[in-house]
Amino acid sequence: MRIDLHTHSTASDGTDTPAELIAHAAAAGLDVVALTDHDTTAGWTEAVAALPAGLTLVRGMEMSCQGMGEDGRPVPVHMLAYLFDPADAAFADERERLRAERVQRVRSMAELMAADGLPVDPDAVLASAGSAAGRPHLARALVAAGVVPTVNDAFIELLAPGGRYYVEKSDTPLRQAVEMVTAAGGVTVVAHPRARKRGRLLALSEIRDLAAAGLAGIEIDHPDHNADDRAVLHELATELGLCTTGSSDYHGSNKTVRIGEFTTDPVEFEKLIGKATGVEVVTG
Ligand SMILES: [Zn+2]
Ligand SMILES: [Zn+2]
Repeated sequence: MRIDLHTHSTASDGTDTPAELIAHAAAAGLDVVALTDHDTTAGWTEAVAALPAGLTLVRGMEMSCQGMGEDGRPVPVHMLAYLFDPADAAFADERERLRAERVQRVRSMAELMAADGLPVDPDAVLASAGSAAGRPHLARALVAAGVVPTVNDAFIELLAPGGRYYVEKSDTPLRQAVEMVTAAGGVTVVAHPRARKRGRLLALSEIRDLAAAGLAGIEIDHPDHNADDRAVLHELATELGLCTTGSSDYHGSNKTVRIGEFTTDPVEFEKLIGKATGVEVVTG
């Protein structure tokens, strides 16, 4: 059984449509794939419709949350949420709030750039981004306009926190995210908690607190985790009785990692989905 529990489609910042992503998952020999676009379930229906015989889809989402860093300051954290009921009112309201805020934030950043004379059209950026607007869309617009040579340069020079064009966002507090997803019948896995190249790290004490609040697992085998960090996380998962997952965090051609390059142990997978009561996994 080959299981990849973390992928992105064009419903957020991936480059495959949900149907293309499913086709790639099947071609890569996966038995199970989870679709986990940022803060949206918009790709679920297309992914289900595209399922070939024998491939199982886990419907999920990657939530933008806020936790506490090792240095005692707030830090952005990603939380994978699987198999929750999308109609649960409290959680649906929170997703709508996040979506609206993403759009407004990208507009505000684009307007700051335009006001400074940069060749960025806020309406065009938003039109290209849809409901999952984020800094990557702005970065690509800056590259297309010739302001910077690469998306990475855009992030470093123009889009970094504390920079001239950076606008804050108010993501869901981690504990609230775990409680909301659990109440909606879903299960939560903290995503790439030791991804150092993304910046400051989440305090491990936060994961202990989340376990007490219902957290189901920790994503450990991730392209951004080194061997030492994986060992630390395995120890913590054992101590707390949490499931462990491995996943590619596939983004199509936006990243170099291949779908299925990192996978989840079938025993851990069964343990994880056994706790969910929101929606079922779907097998084609
Ligand atoms: Zn992430
Ligand atoms: Zn991701």
